[in-house]
Amino acid sequence: LTSGLESAWNKLKGEEVLTKENIVEPMRDIRRALLEADVSLPVVRRFVQTVSEQAVGVGVIRGVKPDQQLVKIVSDELVKLMGGEVSELTFAKSGPTVILLAGLQGVGKTTVSAKLALYLKKQGKSCMLIAGDVYRPAAIDQLVILGKQVDVPVYAVGTDVKPAEIARQGLQEAKKKNVDVVIMDTAGRLQIDKNMMDELKDVKKTLNPTEVLLVVDAMTGQEAAALVTTFNLEIGITGAILTKLDGDSRGGAALSVKEVSGKPIKLVGRGERMEDLEPFYPDRMAGRILGMGDVLSFVEKAQEVMKQEDAEDLQKKIMSAKFDFNDFLKQTRAVARMGSMSRVLGMIPGMGKVTPAQIREAEKSLQIMEAMIEVMTPEEREQPELLAESPARRKRIAQESGKTEQQVSQLVAQLFQMRVRMKNLMGAMEGGSVPALSN
Ligand code: GDP
Ligand code: MG
Repeated sequence: LTSGLESAWNKLKGEEVLTKENIVEPMRDIRRALLEADVSLPVVRRFVQTVSEQAVGVGVIRGVKPDQQLVKIVSDELVKLMGGEVSELTFAKSGPTVILLAGLQGVGKTTVSAKLALYLKKQGKSCMLIAGDVYRPAAIDQLVILGKQVDVPVYAVGTDVKPAEIARQGLQEAKKKNVDVVIMDTAGRLQIDKNMMDELKDVKKTLNPTEVLLVVDAMTGQEAAALVTTFNLEIGITGAILTKLDGDSRGGAALSVKEVSGKPIKLVGRGERMEDLEPFYPDRMAGRILGMGDVLSFVEKAQEVMKQEDAEDLQKKIMSAKFDFNDFLKQTRAVARMGSMSRVLGMIPGMGKVTPAQIREAEKSLQIMEAMIEVMTPEEREQPELLAESPARRKRIAQESGKTEQQVSQLVAQLFQMRVRMKNLMGAMEGGSVPALSN
């Protein structure tokens, strides 16, 4: 998608204003790019029309180039299409909040059940899970295991009870225990079928849920529009959760959900780990689709992973230019802990799509850095200047870590670059400088 859109923008570089004529080609590119991103055709048509009308009507803004104007219009319209703002979960005014999850098989319902419980637990809410997939004993075991992992009780009775009855019992239990939120996992099918819908309707009637969330695999692509429409008409949904956004998906499903159902995406799954669930930010998604990278999510995640005190400590050090190799190590490890490197790299603007080879490369260079830092003395770790000043020290580190002197020099240079970059990031008034390494 990115390259398609970039070429669309480039075509406008020399133009003075947006006209009916000069947006034809960029709009054709945008249309093609959206189709390639698996957005359904009717959605693409409406989108292109809306954007074209707005673009031509727009007056010339002094200092803003037409291509930038078009970027802004497309981006704003994408955001609007996806619901504009973050849509929060709704909670019941009294009694437990009940969340019913629905969706096809394999989209990530069971995983999301447990992720959501952890997510809400972090917000101080007590949760209970109900195992409602009675077709596969393994599905119940899976939820029980995940429940243990996030330390949330699971109500499971077995495979010989009807889901609506399990729902009734589970809800009763939840009320008795006074839990804040009940999350019910349900069975999916490979395709929409009447049995599944009837069963879901029964469960819904029993639970009277606060939220009915349709779990949609981001890879669904074109079919997402039809899928969302059907579920919404049949059982009535309050929103959607988009899973597997960490994969190769181009985001097309995200664009269709709100447009066809009027219901927002509330959360997104970005990985297989229990922590990988986040609110859905339409503006960031638009940014991702436009190839600007998902910087904000990245920063947020980084803050969460690095313990609070660590982060504060780090900030102080950065402000006083004391950021040293210990911090460097802590930080790179925190980044590694955030999950697969692919996800992290994918979020950095300009990185675009990351290949498995690039991921291996990044992980390898992390190992190399660690090896070199490990053989540093405590003084060297705390005072990187020592290494900048002394070729002998760099040589020793190279020998002890089995790396080349060039690699050590690179690492030292990188640390100073990071100091500067982080200082700028924190908005410090005066910037630092990168010292030349003495030979
Ligand atoms: P269900 O049939 O809808 O209950 O789907 P599951 O929860 O069993 O998930 C199916 C598979 O998708 C499992 O292997 C999950 O680990 C995986 N999965 C779920 N959510 C995500 C996600 O956000 N990212 C990735 N990469 N995998 C996911
Ligand atoms: Mg399941």
